[in-house]
Order: sequence, then C-alpha cells, then structure tokens
Amino acid sequence: MVKQTIQIFARVKPPVRKHQQGIYSIDEDEKLIPSLEIILPRDLADGFVNNKRESYKFKFQRIFDQDANQETVFENIAKPVAGSVLAGYNGTIFAYGQTGSGKTFTITGGAERYSDRGIIPRTLSYIFEQLQKDSSKIYTTHISYLEIYNECGYDLLDPRHEASSLEDLPKVTILEDPDQNIHLKNLTLHQATTEEEALNLLFLGDTNRMIAETPMNQASTRSHCIFTIHLSSKEPGSATVRHAKLHLVDLAGSERVAKTGVGGHLLTEAKYINLSLHYLEQVIIALSEKHRSHIPYRNSMMTSVLRDSLGGNCMTTMIATLSLEKRNLDESISTCRFAQRVALIKNEAVLNEEINPRLVIKRLQKEIQELKDELAMVTGEQRTEALTEAELLQLEKLITSFLEDQDSDSRLEVGADMRKVHHCFHHLKKLLNDKKILENNTVSSESKDQDCQEPLKEEEYRKLRDILKQRDNEINILVNMLKKEKKKAQEALHLAGMDRREFRQSQSPPFRLGNPEEGQRMRLSSAPSQAQDFSILGKRSSLLHKKIGMREEMSLGCQEAFEIFKRDHADSVTIDDNKQILKQRFSEAKALGESINEARSKIGHLKEEITQRHIQQVALGISENMAVPLMPDQQEEKLRSQLEEEKRRYKTMFTRLKALKVEIEHLQLLMDKAKVKLQKEFEVWWAEEATNLQVNSPAVNSLDHTKPFLQTSDSQHEWSQLLSNKSDVNARKILPSPCPSPHSQKQSSTSTPLEDSIPKRPVSSIPLTGDSQTDSDIIAFIKARQSILQKQ
Ligand code: ADP
Ligand code: MG
Repeated sequence: MVKQTIQIFARVKPPVRKHQQGIYSIDEDEKLIPSLEIILPRDLADGFVNNKRESYKFKFQRIFDQDANQETVFENIAKPVAGSVLAGYNGTIFAYGQTGSGKTFTITGGAERYSDRGIIPRTLSYIFEQLQKDSSKIYTTHISYLEIYNECGYDLLDPRHEASSLEDLPKVTILEDPDQNIHLKNLTLHQATTEEEALNLLFLGDTNRMIAETPMNQASTRSHCIFTIHLSSKEPGSATVRHAKLHLVDLAGSERVAKTGVGGHLLTEAKYINLSLHYLEQVIIALSEKHRSHIPYRNSMMTSVLRDSLGGNCMTTMIATLSLEKRNLDESISTCRFAQRVALIKNEAVLNEEINPRLVIKRLQKEIQELKDELAMVTGEQRTEALTEAELLQLEKLITSFLEDQDSDSRLEVGADMRKVHHCFHHLKKLLNDKKILENNTVSSESKDQDCQEPLKEEEYRKLRDILKQRDNEINILVNMLKKEKKKAQEALHLAGMDRREFRQSQSPPFRLGNPEEGQRMRLSSAPSQAQDFSILGKRSSLLHKKIGMREEMSLGCQEAFEIFKRDHADSVTIDDNKQILKQRFSEAKALGESINEARSKIGHLKEEITQRHIQQVALGISENMAVPLMPDQQEEKLRSQLEEEKRRYKTMFTRLKALKVEIEHLQLLMDKAKVKLQKEFEVWWAEEATNLQVNSPAVNSLDHTKPFLQTSDSQHEWSQLLSNKSDVNARKILPSPCPSPHSQKQSSTSTPLEDSIPKRPVSSIPLTGDSQTDSDIIAFIKARQSILQKQ
C-alpha cells in the first residue's frame, strides 16, 4: 500500500496581453517548498478581494511558470503517475482552474502544433512505449471517454457518429453494487493495442464533443471530461490479473456564477457546474477534516465517478491552472485556496489484484492432468476416465453377491476408487428402476387382459387413412411455403449482409478509414517491411471523414460561401501551416524510408561478403592444407566495422521513422479536427445569419421583392454590422441564404424558405464600404448568392 497526499502543482498560463508586471512571484528555493505569491495591486486590495491584504502565498509541489513547455509538464507531473499505473496502482490527474486558464491545453494539448500536445497523448505514447519494452507481462489496454454535463454522463466514444447535440450521445448512468463499487452503465471501453489506436480514440471523443456542442451549450467550459486508460496486466501462466485505471480529467471552468454574468438557460448551466464543483469542494473539505465519517460523494456524478481518486485507492495529482492577469486575480486566489485544501487529502493506493476464475479453472485442470499422470506413473497403470469392461463385470458380480447375501453385516468393498463407487450406485439405481418397471408392466398387462379390445373396424381404418393423407398434403404445402420463405430470407440476409459490409466499410473499424480528400496520404512502398506499416496513416476516423465529406453535399453556392468563410477564418492559417509541416514530414519520411532500404540492402551485402570471405578461407585452408585462422583478418575486420556502422545507422533512422509516424498521425488528426471545427462554425454561423436575416429583413416579412433589400435603416444597419464586425472570427463578411448542407437543413427545415429574401439587386447597387478587402468580399458573396438563386 502506498500512502500519499494528493500532489498539487500550479501552472501559470502566458498572458494574452502584454505581461503585467508585479502581479505574482515564484519562490523556488531548492531547500524550501516552492511557493507562489500573488500580489494585489492597491486598487484591487481595497476593493472586492477584501481584508486589504496585499499578497497571498500558496505552497505547491512545484510551480510551472509561463515558459514551461508541455514536455516539462509531462515529465514532472504525468510521467510519475503513469509509472505507478504501469506498476498496477490507480492514478488520477485533474486540472482545475477558471475558463481560459489552460486546463484543456494542459490535459489534451493545443490544437495547432505537434509540440503542444498535452498530457493525454504524451502519456499514451509513454505507456505504449513501456508496454513494448516489458515482455515479462501480458498487457491489455482499454480506453473510455466520459463527459459529464449538467449532472448527466455521456459516452464520447460512441462510434455511431450521429451526435449533433450532446443528448444524441449514449447516456451514462451510475450503478452502485452492494460493496459500494461504482459501475458506469453505457460507458463503452474500447481496446487499444497501439498508441495510434488510442490516439484515434482521443480525437474521436474530442470531435464528438465539439460536434455535440452548440452555442447555447458551450459544454467545453461547463462540462467535465474524464479520459480513462484502463490497464490490465498478468504474468504468463498466472491467474492473477492486475487492473489499474488512469483518469485524466479536464474539469469545468471553476469561475463563480456572478462572474459569468449570464441569465436564463446559461445561468442554469453555470449553477449546475458550480453545483457540481461545489460538491467537489464539499468532498474535499470533508476529506481534509479529520474524524469526518461521512463524505458526500454521492451528491454529484463527478464526485461519484472520482470517488477512488479522492481519498481512496488512487495516486492523485491536481494541476491548478492559473491565468494571472489583473482581472483574474480573485479567481486565481480561489483556485490556489482550493489546491491548498486538496493537498491535505490522504490517499491510500493499493495494488488491484484479482484472481480470474477462468484462469483458475484452467490452472486446476492442468493440475489434475498432471496429478493423473503422476498417479499413473506410481501405480504403473494408465488410469482413464472410464472403467474397463472387465472391471465393470467384476463390480456387477460383487453387487449381485452383495444383494444376495443375507448377512446384514456384509459390505460392498470396491476400494478407494471413486469411479467404482459411482458405478456401484449407478448400477444399484438401474436395478431398482428395472424392478419398478417390471412391477408396473405386470399390473398393466393384467388390466389389459381384463378389458381386451375388439379389433378396429374397417371403416374406421379408412377414415384414419384419409385424415392421414390430408395431413400429408397439408404438410407438403407448408414445407413448400417454408422453403420459399427461407429462400426469400436468405436473399434478404444476403442483401443486408452486403449493406452491412458496406456500412461496416464506412463505419468500422471506427477510427481507421481513409480520407480520399487527402490524396497525399502516405504509403511508403519504398520503406523496409518492418518499418513500412504506414497503412494506419491512410486509415482514419470515419467520423472525421464523414464530417469533412459533408462539404461535397453542399450546394455550389454554399460551397462558395464556405470557401470565403474558410479563407477568412483564423484557423485556416493553422491548417495551412500544418499542411506544410505535414508535407515536409511526408517527404522526410519517404527519404528516410529509402535510406533505410538502402541501409538494409547494404547490411545484407556486407553480411554476404563476410560469409563469402569465410568460405574462401576455408576452401583455401583445405586446398593448401592449412589451418583456418581463428582471428579475422584486416579486411574482415573492416567489413565488420562497416556492418556495425550500417546497423547503427539503420537503427537511428528506424527510430526516427517511428517517431515521424506518430507525429504525422497526430498532425493529420489535428488538421481533421480543425476542419470539422471550421465546418461546424460555418454551419452555425450560416444558420444564425439566416435566422437573423429572416427576423430582421422586411423583405422576408412582406415578401416584397420590389423593395430594395438594403434600403431600410434596419437592414442597412444589419449590413454595416456584419461588415464592420471584423474582429469576431464568427462574423464573416458574407451574408448567408439558408444553408443547403444537411446539418443546417435539419435546423431550418421547419422555417420558411428564404429564397425570396435573397437580394436580387445587381452587385453594383450594393453600398460599398471603401475597404477594398471588404468590398471584394461583398462582391464575392453576392456572386455566390446569385449562383444560389440561379440554381434554385
Ligand atoms: P481552459 O480549458 O482552462 O478553458 P484552454 O486550455 O482552452 O483553457 O486555454 C485557453 C487558451 O489559452 C487556448 O487558446 C490555449 O491554447 C491557450 N493556452 C493555455 N495555456 C497555455 C500555455 N501554457 N501556453 C500557451 N498557450 C496556452
Ligand atoms: Mg477547456
């Protein structure tokens, strides 16, 4: 058992704006526990933070300042936890802090660069690397990904890919067994045999989460996400299995309701979230106080799920994420205060070993066989399951004489052989039954004799024959009908099978389908066979494929608008950058593959040369009757050192290629995710703008086409608002018509078609803004709209 308090770390996020000096300081004296001092500017100290204190000091295991990179954070925080999970202990890492403080960045990673990948992908990489190294055990890895929103759990790894809102995902519920163990019903566990498979699951969950999010439910800041790696291990031949779970938790934003400043629906959500974090706080307070017998875990789903992680069988680590800007100081202080309480909680982690009954049975069966063999060796006779004929006969004789023996002291001696004992009982039972039947028969034959029946009359026979014939016919008809039905069913099954196969091809394995859009997906035919398993790179999430593929179903007009939207979108730069990096990596990998091939054939040649030399020397030795020299000559030594050098080169290149493969896979997933995000934002924006247009445009209300679209002050305002709102990435410079894409069609299917509201004025009559970029966008957009009109 390992007793340990929850480890607390702090991470300070780089500020968005220029660094505000003197707000905090970090004291990291080697001998002392590191501390973070938050210094309040005077105006704030006098104000809402109260008590007129000017500084607050908090101790942490370690504090990561703004410049700490993801690698450092992983090495110091996650690696030790992953290490204990590999040893069989449960582990949890959770990030706590206000929205925007870097929780998701720390746990999952940034959406842009490979180097920004967070704790989850790095931990997966580390764990799979370790599993590969350790051949002394058999490991099995499963992944689950749970989102808790408004006290409801959702399975993010639902492979059906149909979620357009959170409610479409399978609902996960909590079940508690009599031993108070928590079970999560409906949360699927997916086996991952490689790092790539696990990474695909992470991206599948993140994409499901993104798609399910709507502007009204910004679940990402208001929900808790728990990514769990379930690891089982056992030594070959042993029946003991070790189970360990690693929860990587991205909690909801910890900001207070007052600060969110929202009303209505959003307020309810904020309250819920605060309620759930409030319950977390209560659990933590209860745990940090001595002698508290009741810990209110059951109050919320999140505390129930994380029960083991908090004060239980788990090694737990908290990362307090801080955005130390002036306006966030009160929240940062409250995050640090929370961490200080968490640090008081003691956990007791134990090895979770379990005996697998199936394995025990197997082991016992083996043991029995071994014992039988041993017995056979000792007694010198091969003992089989069944008794021999002679043995059976002898036993039956014994039983007969036993039964016939009138002596009440007589015994049936068969020796200490259970097979013989069983057979005796069996035989006695049989004798008893036979006797009973005999008695019954005598009774019934007696009664039969008494009321002896007359033979059946000829007429009755005929009647019976007719009925029999009729039934025969009926049966024949039914058989024919059945045959036809069966044939039909088989055909239907065959068709369904084909459908299912097609369906499966597009659905499963869920995360492995290729994306035809990316023609350049890599298959390095030139790479060596061991290194060339790049097929996975071409196989990707069908969800991503489906989402990206949706664009092809858009009308041309909508596609044009999408192109403009995409061009203007901030993320397109990232996508382009990543594309460039990908290209570089592809060519690097290709070149590496070729070099590896060369090195391999060189190694082959060198080995061949050395063997040839040996043969020559032996031949020379025989022909000249000389002993073959034991030591290799100079030439051979040279060849050997060349061989070693080539092997080293091969190994280095191979390792690099392996790392490249992971990087390429990660980058592709990042790009796909960014594309899905872009598409989703476009659809949301398009639908929103279409609604605005419908509400605000007098042209819609009156359906008066003769009225110029932009002449009223309201619509003029609408235009200018849309055109001037350049800072908002969502507010594009184009106006939408109802989007014909499937997603937004779903949303607006009940609304009035907006074709009539589309301005039909010539491009030249639109008031231009004078900003050439904006103006060209207006023109591009109007053209797009006109093309929509023409098509409709
Ligand atoms: P949260 O999940 O706490 O709401 P995010 O992780 O989404 O916050 O972070 C908000 C923004 O800040 C994101 O754009 C993220 O990329 C950026 N960010 C957060 N932490 C860091 C960091 N340590 N270094 C660089 N950028 C960061
Ligand atoms: Mg987040």
